Amino acid sequence: MQLSRRQFMKATAGGIAASSVAALGFLPATALAEVRQFKLARAKEIRNTCPYCSVGCGLLMYSLGDGAKNAKAEIVHIEGDPDHPVSRGSLCPKGAGLLDFIHSPNRLKSPEVREAGSSEWKRISWHEAVSRIARHMKDDRDANIVVRNDQGVTVNRWVSTAMLTASASSNETGILTQKFMRSLGIVGTDAQARVCHGPTVSALASTFGRGAMTNTWVDISNADFILVMGGNPAEAHPVGFKWAIEAKKRGARIVVVDPRFNRSAAVADEYVPIRAGSDIVFLGGVINWLIANDKIQWEYVKAFTNASYIVDEGFGFEDGLFSGFDPAKGQYDRKSWNYEFDKAGNARTDPALQHPRCVWNLMKAHYARYTPDVVADLTGSPKDGFLTVCRYLGATSARDKVGTILYALGWTQHTVGAQNIRTMAMIQLLLGNIGMPGGGVNALRGHSNIQGLSDLGLLSTSLPGYLTLPNEKAHPTLADYLARTTPKAQQPGQLNFWSNTPKFFVSLMKWFWGDNATRDNDWGYDWIPKWDKMYDVLQVMDLMHNGKVNGLIVQGFNPLTSFPDARKTAACFSKLKYMVVIDPIATETASFWRNHGEINDVDTAAIKTEVFRLPSTCFAEEDGAIVNSARWLQWHYKGANPPGEAKTDQEIIAELFVALRDLYRRDGGTAPEPILNLSWPYRNPLEPTPEELAKELNGRALADIPDPKDPTKFLARKGEQLPGFALMQDDGSTLSACWIFAGCWTQAGNQMARRDNSDSGLGNTPGWAWAWPANRRIIYNRASCDPSGKPWDPKRTLIAWTGERWAGADVPDFKIDAAPSSGMNPFIMNPEGVGRLFATDKLVDGPFPEHYEPMESPLGTNPLHPKVVTSPAVRIFPADKARLGTHDQFPYVGTTYRLTEHFQFWTKSVALNAIAQPEQFVEIGETLAAEKGIRTGDTVKVSSRRGFIKAKAVVTKRVKALTVSGKTIHQVGIPLHWGWETVARKGYLSNTLPPAVGDCNTQTPEYKAFLVNVEKIVGA
Ligand code: SF4
Repeated sequence: MQLSRRQFMKATAGGIAASSVAALGFLPATALAEVRQFKLARAKEIRNTCPYCSVGCGLLMYSLGDGAKNAKAEIVHIEGDPDHPVSRGSLCPKGAGLLDFIHSPNRLKSPEVREAGSSEWKRISWHEAVSRIARHMKDDRDANIVVRNDQGVTVNRWVSTAMLTASASSNETGILTQKFMRSLGIVGTDAQARVCHGPTVSALASTFGRGAMTNTWVDISNADFILVMGGNPAEAHPVGFKWAIEAKKRGARIVVVDPRFNRSAAVADEYVPIRAGSDIVFLGGVINWLIANDKIQWEYVKAFTNASYIVDEGFGFEDGLFSGFDPAKGQYDRKSWNYEFDKAGNARTDPALQHPRCVWNLMKAHYARYTPDVVADLTGSPKDGFLTVCRYLGATSARDKVGTILYALGWTQHTVGAQNIRTMAMIQLLLGNIGMPGGGVNALRGHSNIQGLSDLGLLSTSLPGYLTLPNEKAHPTLADYLARTTPKAQQPGQLNFWSNTPKFFVSLMKWFWGDNATRDNDWGYDWIPKWDKMYDVLQVMDLMHNGKVNGLIVQGFNPLTSFPDARKTAACFSKLKYMVVIDPIATETASFWRNHGEINDVDTAAIKTEVFRLPSTCFAEEDGAIVNSARWLQWHYKGANPPGEAKTDQEIIAELFVALRDLYRRDGGTAPEPILNLSWPYRNPLEPTPEELAKELNGRALADIPDPKDPTKFLARKGEQLPGFALMQDDGSTLSACWIFAGCWTQAGNQMARRDNSDSGLGNTPGWAWAWPANRRIIYNRASCDPSGKPWDPKRTLIAWTGERWAGADVPDFKIDAAPSSGMNPFIMNPEGVGRLFATDKLVDGPFPEHYEPMESPLGTNPLHPKVVTSPAVRIFPADKARLGTHDQFPYVGTTYRLTEHFQFWTKSVALNAIAQPEQFVEIGETLAAEKGIRTGDTVKVSSRRGFIKAKAVVTKRVKALTVSGKTIHQVGIPLHWGWETVARKGYLSNTLPPAVGDCNTQTPEYKAFLVNVEKIVGA
């Protein structure tokens, strides 16, 4: 009898003695395997999820020790979970090294403080740490919170202490952190999403209605064509990328467009080079080509997009500027970027597409300038490579052909990040590829739970479920807030799902304030802080630079290595009074005050910041859920206790909150109401459990909810978990911390822990974990059918209209009983129900994407409109503007990226990954290397206006010189991962080089295109 190693483990896990197993003839074939079996035979198997990237691969962890006194559980082995429908047992080099992460010598084991001016860490007790931090926070809050603004509006805004939140912590940690921060009035808060995928939310929500990856990892295998642009998934999402390879095995074509011939390009059918920062020229050229060559899915475009909508007559575009630009403010007035409406409030349309101001004709005129010659001239891409991409994409305009796009930070990290993504979203609408299996816009999220943390609103101006944090001008009262954030349908008969906003918001307020939230006090509306401006990370750093921030709490984040212009960041940290770092491992942020020579040349004694370093658990030591890129909430389980005195983030946050609340109860203080009125109903107030928090995320009934169709029946009884968001009420009878997660923990139990991997069709596994919204796997899937309800492609039937209802392999993203004849359109989150080719007034920098040069342009001009070189809507602070370089001093284009062996700045603390990629390097093309006399292995200095790094040179054919606008442009590839808290070789912070300027809409920094110089260091 042949058994796999895993089957063998199952057979022995029940305690069958090895000898009995042998007697049954079950022993595995090889002696090597036999030894391994015995190692794991006494082990406990625990399910978990990889904490690195957003593929969310399944893990099996094995721990020894039964938990008895002196028999501490220890994780001894980790491998891929073969049942997992995405990873199917695979792990990439990062996942394969996870055991070394858990046992890293850089794990923190006890609370420590670095006193002002000191050069050492000092061990302290948890009690001392929590008491001192709470005292710092209360003193700062009492002195600086703004209770009312100049107009007398209650704002309860505390700006002088900021908080950064973790990207890999569970949803349960995230939501507790949200509660903690907002009760204190913190608005200067951001998660990793701000420096990664902020533009994705902005671009996709403004086009389709939701800001998330549309399809799933496995669904990529249903594509006929895959464009990889603005990302390198073979390297950054290796296990997810195997589904692109599956598609290729079925005959799909893969084309990679990238400044470097990267690892994705190595397995693609075609590779097309491009100048970093010129993607909108390329993609705008695709739009022009599709229109000129009639490669449009016409039925889809006419029925499901706003092509026929008539735009306000005040709208225009001339010489690089859209209508409404105010040069004094450096901002647009977006009034004219909207539809023309009739008296009933419905947008006017011209189904014949003849009206000169209908979206179709405006779009056609806008992109007519982006000819293939212009594309080749401005991007440096060869014209035939560009046309190849056009032809492949154009072929997917057929009803039975589908293409998809895989992108990541190569598109987001630009001043035009959101518009890069918008251009592709428009292309996919023109081709009819949204809602289709094998189609969509696949935004490949970077960190394991950055999707979840975005969902939970851990960003400056957000609340959970993509609700907006109230603004002091627009929303002084609850009535203003609800009136302005609840859209009205713009076409008759549309679902306009955001019309439910009051239900979601009041349920959220009930979660925040419990019984203290009543109709009479507007559900505690005034206790939520109101923002005056976006306190994104660049804004907060500028305030810190100007001495206006005293405290910074950093949870599972390493901003010194992650924020642009690292030298400025270190100088900003030096101005803080206190910093609190909660992390499982040592970070450069916590030790920013330590001198490491050229790598971190600071004056330790002069830095007066008190730094507290609090050890937290890692993924393997806690229960909870994280959300993968495809919106799946996957529950994981604790396998062992953390090292030393480390605690869960939930415990740390709860202890800090209770200590602060005790201080306010005892001593009073400024604006104590939000803290004293906060609902904190946890059985152990010092340690809310993941189960308690997950149930709150889902939501429950606070009173019996009658069935409107039959008053003798109830849809839910008081105290029951809600089955979904449809039951939420705006009268205070329901509570939910995050409406989009409603359904994740129902009366039937924890849906996120489900492990049925059976395929309902086209690779859908609806019984595995739980996906928001409502367990839908492919969003906008109504658009996979034609207007009459029949699938566009019978081979790709995901859902269909049965005559009575919508049904199929996925949960329909539509009103289940709305017949095709009802006139309801598929993009149910948009008030007009259609996908937007023209993004109305949703983005600050234009309703159509337009090419603008990076803030540091290698051309120094924009040949499309020389008077408007860079985006006019960019926000840049004077101190950062003064630190921009020019192409005469810094002639080369620098671009940063990840390596497959490393994850951000974590795996340099992991032995296996440090062995695989031990030393910092940069990639330089052969032509530039020859000009500079640089050979592989030489040490080079790469400098920008903001500082320099030194690294080994890798001279390569992978980065070719390009001809752009008659100039030779060299690009320099700069991997990210080094620093001084490491078990690899120490290295420089690569983010010393990029400028502190961000995407116009989200302020995600421009890491992918900036100017550098390169010099060989002689004698190094
Ligand atoms: S890093 Fe990503 S691809 Fe690699 S094992 Fe982890 S989740 Fe999977």
